[in-house]
Amino acid sequence: MWNAAKCDLCGDCLVKCRYVDYDKDRAVSEIKLLMEGKAADILNSCITCNTCFDNCPTGADPANLIFKMQEKIGTSPLIINAKPMITDRAKRFEEGQADSQVIEGDPDKPALSFDGFEFKQFPEGTLESGLFKGLTVVRGGEYMSLVGMVHMGGESFAGRFGRQVIEKFADLGKEIVYLHNEGYVLAHVKAKELGIPVPFKYYHLFEYLRDYLKKNQKDISLLNKKVAYQPNCAVSWIREQDIWLDEVFDLIGAEHVSRQYDGLNALCCSGPAIGVNKDLAVDMQTKNVQDALDAGAEALVTICPICDAVMRRATSKAGLPKIFITDLCRMGLGEIPWPA
Ligand code: SF4
Ligand code: SF4
Repeated sequence: MWNAAKCDLCGDCLVKCRYVDYDKDRAVSEIKLLMEGKAADILNSCITCNTCFDNCPTGADPANLIFKMQEKIGTSPLIINAKPMITDRAKRFEEGQADSQVIEGDPDKPALSFDGFEFKQFPEGTLESGLFKGLTVVRGGEYMSLVGMVHMGGESFAGRFGRQVIEKFADLGKEIVYLHNEGYVLAHVKAKELGIPVPFKYYHLFEYLRDYLKKNQKDISLLNKKVAYQPNCAVSWIREQDIWLDEVFDLIGAEHVSRQYDGLNALCCSGPAIGVNKDLAVDMQTKNVQDALDAGAEALVTICPICDAVMRRATSKAGLPKIFITDLCRMGLGEIPWPA
């Protein structure tokens, strides 16, 4: 969450932004405008990649300032594009519309949250996989992670509706496994910032997968494949997830290749940019895929349904298999084959 007291106006956040070409003076003047609650050029150029969260040396969270101001000023093409969707979603929350699905599982097992996504946005067979056998499954608007709404001018959503969502999960009376890491961010990061109590135990998908694989090690046949990893924008809020992911990779024999666009230097999948700047989006996708190929990867592993959909065309064009993380684990467990 933006903390003006931590900002020393160094300008690093916007000097390092890939999507503008600001020198230090320009960067500082942009941040000052935003701190004064005024419009600034960066609001229209920012593609909401969240990288400046990591690029701020003091932890002031400039990305959050930019997202707040994008929502307030409303001139960003991204925000204009998403306005009807955001307005509709806010209305549904305000009116308490029930638009979710619950598939009951074993009483003593956790619930698996698919966030606000449709089941079909995850790989075929996910629900039937042994990975999630017996888990209660939930999805839909009332279980939305909300934090991703920053890509659409909805920075305020976590504050306005986060309590409703957390209470909905609490009503399940279960431990929660978040299949999409943004759900974990709402429970683990945003709820704390907003003072929302989280009265249940919750797990990141990678923690769950790691523990499942450890328990079922006898069923694993090591893949012995080199993979590149496409992080999503929520990774900035939970850097510890990269450690859990590497544990998952190790357990199934996937070698995480070192590449240029990895870790703090990751390149956004381009999802937020597609609707407003197609050339930029295609360029980002192409760079990401080429980088994975240059590093010797035999597949690109995705962890977010949006990244997964966005990277489909570029990976397919380059002949690089794209594998969602749960499918990669299913391959290690022999449930499905490595792509031909
Ligand atoms: S969120 Fe990304 S695009 Fe926006 S200003 Fe920060 S680094 Fe630049
Ligand atoms: S938000 Fe952080 S990186 Fe940006 S000017 Fe302030 S201290 Fe520097």
